[in-house]
Amino acid sequence: MATGAKRDYYEVLGVDRSASQDDVKKAYRRVAVQYHPDRNPDDPEAEERFKEASEAYAVLSSQEKRQQYDRFGHQGVDSQGFTGFDPTTFGDFADILGDLFGLGDIFGGRRRSSGPGPRRGHDLQYNLRITLEEAATGIERSIRVPRMEPCEECDGKGVEPGKILEACSACSGQGQVLFRRGFLTVAQTCPSCGGQGQMNRHPCQSCRGRGQNENEATLKVTVPAGIDSGMRLRLAGEGEAGTLGGPPGDLYVAILVEEHDVFEREGADLHVSLPISVFQVMLGASIEIATILGEDRSVDVPAGSQPGKIVRLRGSGLPQLNSSRRGDLLVHCNVVVPKKLSGEQRRSVEQTAQLFPAVDQGSHGGLFERLKTVLGGER
Ligand SMILES: [Zn+2]
Ligand SMILES: [Zn+2]
Repeated sequence: MATGAKRDYYEVLGVDRSASQDDVKKAYRRVAVQYHPDRNPDDPEAEERFKEASEAYAVLSSQEKRQQYDRFGHQGVDSQGFTGFDPTTFGDFADILGDLFGLGDIFGGRRRSSGPGPRRGHDLQYNLRITLEEAATGIERSIRVPRMEPCEECDGKGVEPGKILEACSACSGQGQVLFRRGFLTVAQTCPSCGGQGQMNRHPCQSCRGRGQNENEATLKVTVPAGIDSGMRLRLAGEGEAGTLGGPPGDLYVAILVEEHDVFEREGADLHVSLPISVFQVMLGASIEIATILGEDRSVDVPAGSQPGKIVRLRGSGLPQLNSSRRGDLLVHCNVVVPKKLSGEQRRSVEQTAQLFPAVDQGSHGGLFERLKTVLGGER
């Protein structure tokens, strides 16, 4: 639509330039009802008028935009990036028109609100803490979940047993009432029954007509081996009960695996620190350790291993989820140097040390030599 061809917004809505916000709103309703696409199917001219009115309303209903428009005309609001229809004001339009069109689907989008009708129950989440051992073996746990469940007294209907819901007398069970507005007949959600078309004259005592009661359900959760923190198990249909015959929601069990004192987890692999004496790394050693599943494994540390040496025990880590495979156990050799020596130990070590040449510092990339140069020393 070329800017020059645009009609004056006040003219479009048929209001005076001094019209109040309320007048603008009323005028828009009038025009919108007249040209609403639902009432004028396959009428491009009516559709154009409807859009034109909506655009005019979008501008004139905003104080800021209206001032801009008053001062600068169409250019004043076009230059702000207002091109045709502003989706941010849809909610406002829906509010204005929604009660005029009971099933207010005015812009071909979703309905104004989730009206009465079967509604799915809410999903629930239960946080479950387990130990690393439990994550390794998998477990079955009983959990107690407070949730809304269908009322047992009335079978979830909300009506006294033996009684039934009656058709709403205000709308004859239609859920909508028609009223005249000028020359138009307009449908509105029935205020008596809220659009449900039915009245509950004998609400169930137990649930006060809601059809649900809060209950604590005891459920069994099967946690598979290899599960990790952040994973969620879905128990379909174990969430809150639906309303008006809608299906129940789902229950999600969110897993948190606690930190372990000994093992550190990395996916299906586990890391463990193995204290080992300086003599054991020099001479080599075979050391028994237990895996997370309690199996005995021997760690073979080769003679001459350096500090930080990692021995990998394949298949001794955690089970992988939904698999028969297992991760690895990575054993970090943590060389422990005695802090104190007895007199006898000291004499023995001194004697032994004489058999070993001093460590050649030059093997560290000449670092020692370079340090001497920097410091300007010759020795
Ligand atoms: Zn009604
Ligand atoms: Zn009940």
